[in-house]
Amino acid sequence: MNIPFIDLKKQFKNMEPEMRAAIDEVLAHGQFIMGPEINRLESELASMAGVNHVVACGSGTDALIMALMAHGVGPGDAVFTSPFTFIATAEVISLLGATPVFVDIDPITYNIDPNLLEREIDNTMQAGELKPKCIIPVDLFGLPADYDPIMSIAEAKGLFVLEDAAQSFGGVYHGRPACGLGHAAATSFFPAKPLGCYGDGGAVFTDDGELDDRMRSIRVHGQGSNKYDNIRIGLNARMDTLQAAILLVKLKSFPAELEARQKVAARYTEGLKDLVETPVITEGLVSAWAQYSILSEKREFIQASLKEAGVPTAIYYPKPLHLQEAFSDLGLGPGTFPISESISEKVFSLPMHPYLEDETIDFIVGRIAESIKQGD
Ligand SMILES: *Cc1c(COP(=O)(O)O)cnc(C)c1O
Repeated sequence: MNIPFIDLKKQFKNMEPEMRAAIDEVLAHGQFIMGPEINRLESELASMAGVNHVVACGSGTDALIMALMAHGVGPGDAVFTSPFTFIATAEVISLLGATPVFVDIDPITYNIDPNLLEREIDNTMQAGELKPKCIIPVDLFGLPADYDPIMSIAEAKGLFVLEDAAQSFGGVYHGRPACGLGHAAATSFFPAKPLGCYGDGGAVFTDDGELDDRMRSIRVHGQGSNKYDNIRIGLNARMDTLQAAILLVKLKSFPAELEARQKVAARYTEGLKDLVETPVITEGLVSAWAQYSILSEKREFIQASLKEAGVPTAIYYPKPLHLQEAFSDLGLGPGTFPISESISEKVFSLPMHPYLEDETIDFIVGRIAESIKQGD
């Protein structure tokens, strides 16, 4: 067997004529930068996430940095986030000269722990060196973080909440769609994300009209009333028209794909729940299942056995951010965030995509069961 981790080829086959037509249309009109597809995509995304404004941009990383820039995050500011995430979440904080302040995660959801968050904000205020400015909760593996307590903490302390929804487009938190859960949200359309384009892409979501105006300016070199009027320092962070056209086609099958992901996850969990620690989805939440991640003390053994059978696996994330060399300046050694560290030693992800067939899932589950038996 040779099972893909994510099957983009099968997805393309299902939408090939429509996809080729959409790409052709862009080639024909030739507006490769800020063509009409960008506006269309922005309105569709806004209505799906239930927000007033969406700014399409070049990547999830651009989306995060545009939102922080538009909110005025800079040197001396503390931005609170999880150490158990992709580097981009915290990288953008440091890029702007602000300081990432990590807060450990909940051991069940792997998302930022609101109790620890509140304590860390108080500690930072008391220490007086940094000004608490912003919280970036990450919706890890597609599961929204716990926004009810996070938003009330933010309100009490006057902080801005930027949802890192790079993995959770399509997720739901108590009836509200992911990307609409903070003051702003950033998502990614990297090909492997739940909604992916054919290259890099991203978007920021917000209800705040002024933040939206500033982000539109930042997206194009801080432009003012016209291209050669520059009112702030910005970026070149536009999304290519071709990527918007591709996403508009993919959006049509997205609801069905999301359903299919739920079925894949449910079948994995049914087969694996007595063998390993399977994902726990909090009551009232829906995961977009960017990853199906499990915990096992026998990770290495199971991964090797799956590899032998042609089943790819991946570790998200083998090293929490506070232990990365890039953040060594923060001086946070092993033991600082015990939950993130312990999860990173046991976690790994199985193939997950909407076109995974029952027989393949059962094969993977069977192989895991066998390897655990052998390992005992
Ligand atoms: C993928 C990802 C990003 C960055 O998105 P890009 O489009 O690759 O720049 C940011 N945060 C998280 C949690 C991600 O998974």
